[in-house]
Amino acid sequence: MTVSAGTSRADRKLLAAAYDAGVTPRAVPDPADPADPKPGPAARPPRTPAAKASATPRTRASARAAATPTPVHDVVIVGGGPAGSSCAFWLADAGWDVVVVEKKHFPRVKTCGDGLTPRAVRQLADMGLEDALAGSHKYGGLRAYGFGHSVEMQWPEHPNFPNYGYTITRHDLDGLVAERAVKAGATLLSGTEVVAPIILEAGPTLPHLKGVTIREKAAETVTGDPPTAGDREAGDRELLARYVVVADGANSRVGRMLGTNRRRDLPLGMALRGYYTSDRHDDPFIESHLDIRDAEGNVVPGYGWIFPMGDGRVNVGVGLLSTDRRWKGVNTSHLMDAFVNWAPESWGLSPETSLGPPTGGKLPMGLSVGPRAGVNVLLAGDAAGTINPFNGEGIAYGYETGRLAASALGHALGGEGARALADYDRQIEAAYGPYYKVARAFVRMISNPQAMKLCVGVGMRSEFIMNQLLRIMANLMRPDAPGPAEIAFRAMELISRLLPDEVAELEAATAGALASGAPLE
Ligand SMILES: Cc1cc2nc3c(=O)[nH]c(=O)nc-3n(C[C@H](O)[C@H](O)[C@H](O)COP(=O)(O)OP(=O)(O)OC[C@H]3O[C@@H](n4cnc5c(N)ncnc54)[C@H](O)[C@@H]3O)c2cc1C
Repeated sequence: MTVSAGTSRADRKLLAAAYDAGVTPRAVPDPADPADPKPGPAARPPRTPAAKASATPRTRASARAAATPTPVHDVVIVGGGPAGSSCAFWLADAGWDVVVVEKKHFPRVKTCGDGLTPRAVRQLADMGLEDALAGSHKYGGLRAYGFGHSVEMQWPEHPNFPNYGYTITRHDLDGLVAERAVKAGATLLSGTEVVAPIILEAGPTLPHLKGVTIREKAAETVTGDPPTAGDREAGDRELLARYVVVADGANSRVGRMLGTNRRRDLPLGMALRGYYTSDRHDDPFIESHLDIRDAEGNVVPGYGWIFPMGDGRVNVGVGLLSTDRRWKGVNTSHLMDAFVNWAPESWGLSPETSLGPPTGGKLPMGLSVGPRAGVNVLLAGDAAGTINPFNGEGIAYGYETGRLAASALGHALGGEGARALADYDRQIEAAYGPYYKVARAFVRMISNPQAMKLCVGVGMRSEFIMNQLLRIMANLMRPDAPGPAEIAFRAMELISRLLPDEVAELEAATAGALASGAPLE
């Protein structure tokens, strides 16, 4: 089944039913569907159009507001990026009272490569947003360059995902999804920052929360200094909730205030991107460069990308993994300069076509951040380190984990309580754990320049091998029709199972740190 423009709610349910439960989240149960085997959000009575139109606060919240001075919302979500907004959409769509707190005002700029793969498109279509992407650049596949060879690969046919992607700036994309959540009934407090969690008591993994303290930010201070725990001001107010979702991105200050940690022995990405004008702005392929050279032609650690935006611009970026022993010594601005100098001339990249200095960020990947679930708190998206280590893709995984979190919270609110949150943790592990374990081993291997040269050098000579790799690296394998990619992945998975994850990764990280004379990060 393909995802088409204007996917209806009925179609979305069908698509959700076709979804591979082991790899991707199942849809948030529909309250109107008596066949739903595990009705969580279904416990919430369906709203009439009039009730929907009356928006916030809605029936349940209003009743609580009348009984108590401060309303207790069903769910408060910290952050309105892909993970937070998708979680808000699915919860609101199921009828729950959900508030998203976002420190910026949409539309807002967000540093990203702006690439949506078929996995991300699938999630957007499920939220009824594919029509809204119509003005964005639709592309058909990936062109890879490496060690003197290039290969063009179309996105594969897949029963659950479309065979195309889009590029769209986060300035345009994130506001669309947040607005969709609001249309479904969520409340969005933008220009408002969560400055601290309100802790009721300690919990076995994360603290049990009463809600969060929020601060409205004047427009000019929206990008100001980060808050610190206990840093309260006169205008701060409490937002109470039965459940809290932390979706505050890669730096996840709120997550860290709760005691989450990133495992430093697992890979972390660092990337930089800038925009350039280019005649090839509407190229039908996104491009990835697996070997970047300096002015003397020496390979420098890192990879590069050029993503056509279809609006006169291309998004150009470079990335680096902490598993590369040379990580500490690399200046990412120099890496970007080297890539811009070295990239194929036809793109026309130069200081003259640059639209401004590049900006960068971290890519927490491979499920490196935890704990992900507490008694009444869940983490989703980058806050939980959900980026795919194979390709640095995080938007789709933000949407997917936000959706999984919504499903778990529906069950929790429907009566299962903390048990449903523990299920979320298990679902994340089941959906991504084995795949990310292979991905982590793979990136560790190709972080060795010799191994990289061997793998890429051999792979790039065969279109067939590269097409299988694309299916693996973009997580587009087909359990329903196992072919060479699925068989190769299974072999990789079996080998990675033989290695005790922690021991192997700790050894690699220790070796890397010793070699560079400093701890990673
Ligand atoms: C250079 C670069 C290029 C990338 N390219 C791609 C790509 O091409 N494709 C792809 O799929 N992924 C890409 N990624 C990864 C992708 O950007 C992330 O994985 C994705 O944004 C994660 O979504 P999220 O919702 O978890 O976090 P975010 O998108 O970071 O959203 C978090 C939100 O929370 C808000 N927030 C933070 N703290 C608070 C607070 N205390 N109170 C209120 N609000 C708060 C922030 O303002 C933000 O809007 C790239 C990343 C980088 C750095």
